[in-house]
Amino acid sequence: MSAPDVAERLAAVHARIAAVERPFTHAVDVVAVTKGFTSAAVRSAVFAGCTAVGENYAQELLTKRDVLTELQPSVHFIGRLQSNKVRSIAALVSLWETLDRPSVIKEVAKRAPGARVLIQVNATGEAGKGGCDPAEAGELVTLARAEGLVVEGLMTVGPTDGTPADAEPGFRVVRALVDELGLATCSMGMTADLDVAVAAGATQVRVGTALFGPRPAR
Ligand SMILES: *Cc1c(COP(=O)(O)O)cnc(C)c1O
Repeated sequence: MSAPDVAERLAAVHARIAAVERPFTHAVDVVAVTKGFTSAAVRSAVFAGCTAVGENYAQELLTKRDVLTELQPSVHFIGRLQSNKVRSIAALVSLWETLDRPSVIKEVAKRAPGARVLIQVNATGEAGKGGCDPAEAGELVTLARAEGLVVEGLMTVGPTDGTPADAEPGFRVVRALVDELGLATCSMGMTADLDVAVAAGATQVRVGTALFGPRPAR
């Protein structure tokens, strides 16, 4: 995908966001999710005007080290975080979005002191999915702060199955938690359900397919 193509698709994503009726006045940031694509996609995204990219896998992120160092987008880590991978990517990550348990909070605090982070919440109750129970989010925010991290907000992923509308209840739970905890960032919504997320109060959507097309099989 060339930079002009990505720019056109990014404009379409911004138009989708602008079309959502919402009672909020905050801006909605778009994170370009480049997982599954090469460094060329990162380059196109940055040239198209994306200032933040999202990556899910430590190993893959490291293959894009050169382009990330050269173009300096904000790099959001949005995948399942394994403690033993934190160290290798710490220098490249600008925002850790998926802290969901004490062990990874402590590891990020150790390898990336003072880093900006989000706590990931599993608001769908699906087993085996990343994210803490909504009832634990406050405690994890407190722990992360005690460890010296800068907690900017919460992140969540909609249900794996179902229609985009099925994501709404979980998104509302997470938005309410963001408000209750006095946080700023509410990262939720992907290509399929970003409209629902923005209506529910997302301040950040993470978009891959709508910008780059379907991902090649891993
Ligand atoms: C892959 C992924 C996205 C982007 O998904 P699309 O449907 O391609 O927009 C967003 N967030 C997370 C956590 C992801 O894993």
